[in-house]
Amino acid sequence: MLLRHTPEAVAERSALTINPAKTCQPVGAMYAALGVHRCLPHSHGSQGCCAYHRSALTRHYKDPIMATTSSFTEGASVFGGQANMLEALTNIFALYDPEIVAVHTTCLSETIGDDLPQIINKARSEDKIPKGKFVVHANTPSYKGSHVTGYANMVAAFVQYFSRSTGRRTGRINLIPSFVEPSDMSEIKHIASEMGIDFAMFPDTSDVVNGPMDGKFRMYPRGGATREQIEAAGDARLTVALGRVGALPAAKLLDTKCKVPVEALDLPIGVRATDALVETLRKAAGVPVPDSLSLERGQLVDVLCDMSQYTYGRTVSMVGDPDLLVGLVSFCRDAGMRVLHVVTGTNPGPKFERRIKELAGEGVTVRTGLQADMFLFHQLVKGERPDLIMGNTYCKYIARDMDIPLVRVGFPIYDRVGHSYFPVTGYRGGLMLLERVLGAIQDRIDRDAPEESFELVM
Ligand code: SF4
Repeated sequence: MLLRHTPEAVAERSALTINPAKTCQPVGAMYAALGVHRCLPHSHGSQGCCAYHRSALTRHYKDPIMATTSSFTEGASVFGGQANMLEALTNIFALYDPEIVAVHTTCLSETIGDDLPQIINKARSEDKIPKGKFVVHANTPSYKGSHVTGYANMVAAFVQYFSRSTGRRTGRINLIPSFVEPSDMSEIKHIASEMGIDFAMFPDTSDVVNGPMDGKFRMYPRGGATREQIEAAGDARLTVALGRVGALPAAKLLDTKCKVPVEALDLPIGVRATDALVETLRKAAGVPVPDSLSLERGQLVDVLCDMSQYTYGRTVSMVGDPDLLVGLVSFCRDAGMRVLHVVTGTNPGPKFERRIKELAGEGVTVRTGLQADMFLFHQLVKGERPDLIMGNTYCKYIARDMDIPLVRVGFPIYDRVGHSYFPVTGYRGGLMLLERVLGAIQDRIDRDAPEESFELVM
């Protein structure tokens, strides 16, 4: 109800954020750590932060998310969290037996200034880290960046700790995805597998946060990239980074550290972006495109053509994470839609706006950073009403207030299921996304049609 009072006129703000269009860094760091096999995320801070981060992921994936915490109280907040973390590591290895503990910081431990490399060294010198076990860390202060930054920082931390160059190049291709659903990671692997490519993807949360219900509890599900794969990434012939904000920092670090060249691509959403991935893999591995992928592509193109009268010229406004937004804009342009607004609470830098404008044209409004929040998104949508909104669950309030159809995509989605299992990436994911977009548009046409135009066949 209160949203009805959101003013249409945009007043520039310099300090205030109202309903941020992002969440905090450790959520992404925790998610990235879950994509490594037998890795336990550890939150170095107070219990409340860890509880929030776990609950955000648990509610999104409808699966319990495992993570531990240094459980700061008043003492640690004043004197630092070293003692808490040393005790935590002893308990974690004794009780939960992970291969890797991936520590991320929180606002509190960052503000205190805890020196994590020093604490990890102390833990190793005091034999609190058993032989053959590992502790890695990423700094994830939440007063800057977002969950995508935290994800990128943790993926880079795995490269920093594990990747090695032996001097012997393999033919392998590293695939590093940005913060996407496990279903999207599966779909990207499907494309590489169909092409017969020797690849390793990390992180890889498929079969981890969307695992089957088979009556057995597994502290460490079957999925996830292995430490050995991340180590061997240093000998690969190429790294393909899918997303410039979430994936590219780790790929660049791998290049700096192990001289593995990088190809940076947009997330493969829709025909053109997926073509770019397939073409890159084809050239790098010297393999032909298999008929199976040509068939998937042809099916997506067929539905795009068949249904273009419903998508062509439709306007869309979207809010979410930068890499996903670039992919979604590319997808919408494939479908002939016109993108009006693109809003992200992450600050992805000037290249993001340039890329969105390359894809969507100069007329698109792009807003990024702390003041690019849900309040601003609502104002923009009020000022120029789109036919469709694309974004996460929090968009439902704006969609309801404005009576505009919403396609849920991105993070978090708390009020629907399916995102863990149905991808938006690749040709098959593009088809699934197109079906949802068309469903939203056609349901609205049906709802609003006068009786004499309410048709059985549309
Ligand atoms: S913003 Fe900082 S204090 Fe708040 S939950 Fe995230 S890490 Fe914890």
